[in-house]
Amino acid sequence: RKVVQDSSHLRLPPLPSPRDLIKLYKLQAKKQLSQNFLLEGRLTDKIAKAAGNFKNGDVCEVGPGPGSITRSILRRDPGRLLVVEKDPRFLPFLQMVQEASQGKLNIVLGDILSVDMCKMFRDDLRMQWDERCPNIHIIGNLPFSVSTPLIIQWLKDISLRKNAWSFGRVRMTLTFQKEVAERIVAEANGNQRCRLSVMCQNWCDVRHVFTIPGSAFVPPPDVDVGVVTFRPKIEPIIKEDFHLVEKVVRQMTIFRQKKCIRSAETLFPTHLREEMATKLLHLAEVNQNAKPFQLTLDEFKRIVSAYNVICQENPKLSRYQFYGKKSDEEFWQANETDEFSVTNN
Ligand code: SAM
Repeated sequence: RKVVQDSSHLRLPPLPSPRDLIKLYKLQAKKQLSQNFLLEGRLTDKIAKAAGNFKNGDVCEVGPGPGSITRSILRRDPGRLLVVEKDPRFLPFLQMVQEASQGKLNIVLGDILSVDMCKMFRDDLRMQWDERCPNIHIIGNLPFSVSTPLIIQWLKDISLRKNAWSFGRVRMTLTFQKEVAERIVAEANGNQRCRLSVMCQNWCDVRHVFTIPGSAFVPPPDVDVGVVTFRPKIEPIIKEDFHLVEKVVRQMTIFRQKKCIRSAETLFPTHLREEMATKLLHLAEVNQNAKPFQLTLDEFKRIVSAYNVICQENPKLSRYQFYGKKSDEEFWQANETDEFSVTNN
């Protein structure tokens, strides 16, 4: 068997390429783990470069798989690199890179959705939230099935400054299905504007830095892939609690093509719906006829704060969750004796 050297390597001792290792280990990509490998050094170097300068810093790579982005990251000389991989079949691939990494690479076998990053990085890299971003970076070509729930979970961690964000405003460079990347960065009025745009842009400055054609992956997915950078904001635009923001934004974007008053109505039980939705948008000074995708972050901010005012006047309203007609029946059964007082100031 001819071992081809990793052609773009700069610092690592000669290693068989990930492509050769995949052949050698007869490794089949697992569909349920959404394994599509990026094996072209030029593209993996581009992803590592997009993360910025992390020389001597700490990097966490999620889902390294056979380790091509891992190698690109190491070539940019971080102080330490921690990789979190769920599939143990990649252990020998990663151990090979580890041996060549002069002690820089640490391997964690586990699920990134449950890994606690608050002890992962060096304490001396920690920065105050309002200082510059720490030299700590998260990079990952994530499985599509994991990337959206993960970013929502991480936005919540950012809002609470916990997990990796207990070290300060840790930046992320992540891949998404191209359409999802476009949604994340979509501005008000944009075609792709949705809940994810508002949530991501509330807590982070986001950039869709480049797109990789699906054909560059092995096996190729049916879609292209967007690389997005996230830099946590010092102050979010909407400062209320994550769950409150999430609830209001979710409901306000529920009917994309209808007037936003229709979406606003879903924040309230049926018999109060029209009255309270009108009151909400009136308090927020938002045009009832605007479509949800036209709303700016500032308008969402005013809606969340108006909703908060209404819930302070009628605390039980904050417990209301819209799941269609059934939820109203259940809500009223559970609150049979409760009276809602509707004030019209
Ligand atoms: N980074 C590699 C590349 O670019 O070639 C592999 C990318 S592949 C799309 C996604 C990788 O994430 C796979 O190696 C898969 O096993 C791993 N993975 C999937 N779910 C994961 C999870 N919940 N936590 C950690 N790794 C996961």
